[in-house]
Amino acid sequence: MSCPESSTATPFNAEELAEILKELNKEGLDLHIHCVGERSGHIVLDAVELVRKELGDAFRVKVTVTHMWIQDDADLDRFAKLGVIANYTPAWHNGNMGLGCEPSEFWPALIGEERARKMFRSKTVWDSGALVTWSSDDVSFENNFATWNPYYGMEVGMTRWISDKTKAPQGQATKGPLDPPGEKMNIEEMILGYTINGAKQLGIDAEKGSIEAGKDADFLVFDKDLLTAEHAGFSHIMPAEVYFCGKKVN
Ligand SMILES: [Zn+2]
Repeated sequence: MSCPESSTATPFNAEELAEILKELNKEGLDLHIHCVGERSGHIVLDAVELVRKELGDAFRVKVTVTHMWIQDDADLDRFAKLGVIANYTPAWHNGNMGLGCEPSEFWPALIGEERARKMFRSKTVWDSGALVTWSSDDVSFENNFATWNPYYGMEVGMTRWISDKTKAPQGQATKGPLDPPGEKMNIEEMILGYTINGAKQLGIDAEKGSIEAGKDADFLVFDKDLLTAEHAGFSHIMPAEVYFCGKKVN
């Protein structure tokens, strides 16, 4: 199988997106925007900066940027500074992403060696103080939703590769961890990003996202301790019991 060519474009510049953000602010709506390369994420951050300068505290739009395959070094700490939510797809942090190509060969050839060593820098963004969340919009019926599986997302978020222990989507494999090594997340960060941080992103953290008196009793019971489970093979974990609003539903 030959590797695909890739080219992208952004539909808005920062000024145009700032106008959209002002309209959203008037209507009380939030923005969830999908970005892949450096420029698209940069445009969103610039747009938020422009509107924040103009409106100050009157700017209430919750802005979430998702995916962010590659980011400019100078943009990594702007999520925290500007209050923009960084929503990554950790299932992709092995670099394969269903391309059918070995990432350590594919990415340097496509985007150059230097940029290929800077993909998916979620740990740096987390450590800068930004709200980081995890999700996946990679819907694949033939893979039996494997690319949506949060336990697969947690494993790859922690290991950045598909090992022979990984319950991987069909045909996806990688030879080793994707660079840079310092971007591996820990289990606490993976759990927080899938639970309370996600609830904050969606504006439902008063009811969901953590186990507290007064919140909906949505929770899972596992027969092993997620905090000490081996990272390789974490994708095979399944909850033993599922509770929704206090009622067992499995
Ligand atoms: Zn998307």
